[in-house]
Amino acid sequence: APPRAADVFADLNPEQRSAVEHGLDEHGVRGQSPLLVIAGAGSGKTKTLAARVARLIQSGADPQRLLLLTFSRRAAGEMERRAGRMLHRALGLRATQAPPRLPWSGTFHGVGARLLREYAPRIGLAPNFTLLDRADAEDLMGLQRQALGLAETAERFPLKATCLSIYSRAINGESRLDQVLQEHFPWCFPVHDELKRLFKAYVEEKQRQQLLDYDDLLLYWAELMSDDRLAAELGDRFQHVLVDEYQDTNRLQATILRRLKPSGGGLTVVGDDAQAIYSFRAAEVRNILEFPAQFDPPARVVALERNYRSTQPILEASNAVIAMARERHEKRLWTDRASSERPQLVTVEDEARQAQWVADKVLERREQGLRLKRQAVLFRTSSHAAPLELELTRRNIPFVKFGGLKFLESTHVKDVLSVLRWAENPRGRLAGFRVSQLLPGFGPASARRLIDAMAPAADPVQALRAFEPPRAAAASWTALRDLLASLIGDAQWPMDLESVVEWYAPHLERLHDDAPVRLADLEQVVRIAQGFGSRERFLTELTLDPPEASSDESGIPLKDEDYLILSTIHSAKGQEWNAVYLLNCVDGCMPSDLSTGAQAQIEEERRLLYVAMTRAKEHLAVMVPQRFYVTQQARHGDRHLHASVSRFLPGKVVRHFDKLGPANQTQAALPELARPAMDVAARLRKAWD
Ligand code: ATP
Ligand code: MG
Repeated sequence: APPRAADVFADLNPEQRSAVEHGLDEHGVRGQSPLLVIAGAGSGKTKTLAARVARLIQSGADPQRLLLLTFSRRAAGEMERRAGRMLHRALGLRATQAPPRLPWSGTFHGVGARLLREYAPRIGLAPNFTLLDRADAEDLMGLQRQALGLAETAERFPLKATCLSIYSRAINGESRLDQVLQEHFPWCFPVHDELKRLFKAYVEEKQRQQLLDYDDLLLYWAELMSDDRLAAELGDRFQHVLVDEYQDTNRLQATILRRLKPSGGGLTVVGDDAQAIYSFRAAEVRNILEFPAQFDPPARVVALERNYRSTQPILEASNAVIAMARERHEKRLWTDRASSERPQLVTVEDEARQAQWVADKVLERREQGLRLKRQAVLFRTSSHAAPLELELTRRNIPFVKFGGLKFLESTHVKDVLSVLRWAENPRGRLAGFRVSQLLPGFGPASARRLIDAMAPAADPVQALRAFEPPRAAAASWTALRDLLASLIGDAQWPMDLESVVEWYAPHLERLHDDAPVRLADLEQVVRIAQGFGSRERFLTELTLDPPEASSDESGIPLKDEDYLILSTIHSAKGQEWNAVYLLNCVDGCMPSDLSTGAQAQIEEERRLLYVAMTRAKEHLAVMVPQRFYVTQQARHGDRHLHASVSRFLPGKVVRHFDKLGPANQTQAALPELARPAMDVAARLRKAWD
């Protein structure tokens, strides 16, 4: 006999259940009013949404006709898995039977791309349009900027990346250029007219070549539905539209939803205004606050008050943080998960100690049975993780990073380390190739000639001196040659690294728009390098090319491998871990010194801290290094700040924490994960020598 259908919704609380059942028994599917679930972190909004998907399908809705919009592809996958599990049981399927799939789940952008491929011919777009990623779009913007001669004529014309941000903000916020400039880029206001010309050229060029950038995916989708017939067709096609993290949608996305479901019937959105953290991408928290009144009849609003994620002490501390926010939709949250462990506020001397403390604690918890995967380290900005990444690499602790490139894999860090590598081993062709290519006028052929000369040479310095560079590269070659000669001569640690960075700086400026930030990164490497005894140790302990190099979602190591999660707070949205470590909770970083301007920005930084803290289920450590390195201010000289604890953690918040000062810290020997006893890959390679 087939297994009996279980009531998989039995564990929902009454409010969650009423959201799941909304509209199902009243007027059938068509006449129902829209639904808004607005509630605090960890109250089961995402779970409720997944349950509603399962319930709709159980009651006969066609999975093809459900549109599920989430904030990342990862979140969409997770939601589909959750709903699938429930459906499996709710439908009483056998173990071998798969639950129905949800073909239309994903991000706004992903779904937009698929719809546009399908509807392209009907709106005069080539179905084989090319999608530009962010870097492509920047390049295209850069080309137009050059073609119009803007880079030269106007003094300090914004960089191509900034131009794209301005453009993007206007599109996503559905706002006029002058407004965007006034509010967010006031220093660009003088070139308002030039920017307008640039954007026109950019748009024309995209259309000429049939290119779409990310914003176009939303823009064309919205445009598509400005045609009443097409809007009705799509609205009919998707019987139910469900959106998670609605507080971080922008106006264009809200427009899309409104055109899709003008009466709001069949529309379900869930979110938490206290977790709105994407206004820099033109997200509009008013979308969620004003949602109910947009429709007639108005949306049904369900509030959830029970938090199932965090222990009482963690919840209290997070509530204390958000209670100090200026404006918010008042919410109460309670939990029955008592615990005697309070969150920790850990003061450490500097970022190096911070990295050690976190690595120690992560391993300690792992010893106690908490897998690395159940722990996460969160930070405000990707580069703040750099010292920790180096520490983890040194100790052989595997990790993946979300929301930014791994530090050791970023171009500029690799460039500099390659110079050192090459000096350490002048036979190294890979490093040699990479380094020589940095010189302007040095093509692949010359690079090959150089490394061919260096590799077999008994005296590499001699080979360097004898080498004849291509004419165009004569000057830049001399500088590199002298640098290498001195590095090959004898190792002086860490001065070697300093001289490499000094040599590299002008190239950095030539190659990258954001040279100052990258230079600051490199200075951080120099600083960290001082902790390594010698050049050789530095190079061997920081594997340049980790085998499972994985800085994006696609590159996650194998399923049952264990690894620590490193993530920006922005990318940690909606997720939860048993243990959470929050780095650099100091002023200048949280709030970021880039945001200390407007009150609204400060408030967003406060919400960011709230999001970070509410990711923790059982253990939470908030780190406060007393000395802190400020990347963004590197241009202005003083780089080490004597940091003070974040302004979001005043006395009345801190009393919810256990304080751990430098005095209480144990100076235990640093544990490491065992390195493999032998490098099998190396042996296999040897077999071919
Ligand atoms: P966030 O605002 O961070 O996105 P959320 O409101 O979406 O949080 P969920 O992620 O859905 O919250 O749920 C948080 C945790 O609580 C999850 O582990 C979930 O399984 C659990 N949970 C939610 N509702 C219940 C319930 N009724 N019974 C048991 N566990 C629940
Ligand atoms: Mg959620």
